Amino acid sequence: MKHILRKTAVTVLVLLTFCVLSFAQSPKFKVLALYTTTVETDHVDFARDAIQFYTKLAAEKNFVFDTTTDWEKLDDENLKNYQVIMWINEFPHNEAERRAFEKFMTNGGAWLGFHVSGYNDKYTKWPWFVDFLGAVFYNNNWPPLPAKLIVDDNTHPATKRLPKTYIAPINEWYGWKPNPRDNKDIKVLVTLDPANYPLGKKNLIKSGDIPVVWTNTKYKMLYMNMGHGDKVMTFDIQNRLFEDAILWLGSK
Ligand code: ZN
Repeated sequence: MKHILRKTAVTVLVLLTFCVLSFAQSPKFKVLALYTTTVETDHVDFARDAIQFYTKLAAEKNFVFDTTTDWEKLDDENLKNYQVIMWINEFPHNEAERRAFEKFMTNGGAWLGFHVSGYNDKYTKWPWFVDFLGAVFYNNNWPPLPAKLIVDDNTHPATKRLPKTYIAPINEWYGWKPNPRDNKDIKVLVTLDPANYPLGKKNLIKSGDIPVVWTNTKYKMLYMNMGHGDKVMTFDIQNRLFEDAILWLGSK
């Protein structure tokens, strides 16, 4: 009897260990990051750094980080495998990819967009995206420069580890018209400090309220204007934002 009991106890223990291990090993969520290598060098450099950063983070935090340059992967069937889509340095250009993305977001998917992935102007002709992002590109500084940023909201999971202000590494900063802050569904999390003005030399940002990081509360999404050049991911404090953003977007 004792022998049988011991045997049962061992079996239960083995099963429990197996369950715990398989639970620990199954990824928390899956990210599909899309990018391209055929755009300006500074945007390709950023893609390389972002992929390196998130690949390392995915291993540490137990999520899947798949990357592709094939934008046709924005299709219903493929997107069923993912909880988060990331656009690193590009956006979809054809109707099929745009429709698949809209469907993914409307059905509760999550999105993280960097820098030029939020670019849209009068030629883009994608009204759904303008409503989703809450902004249209207006102006930019040139050359790329570091800038002081104000963290508007430290209560959001993506910004909770950021200081109230900090100097962000070199980036090309975009201004927006309409201003996302004027959209009732948009929550601005980080803003360019007006103390930076005039920002630039060839192209100057001289004035204006310029949100840098925001979320549209109708969706699970974050847009961040960082993403130009090979310095963006070099600052530990700002990297907390990149880390916490993806963990929030991947959370249930
Ligand atoms: Zn740029």
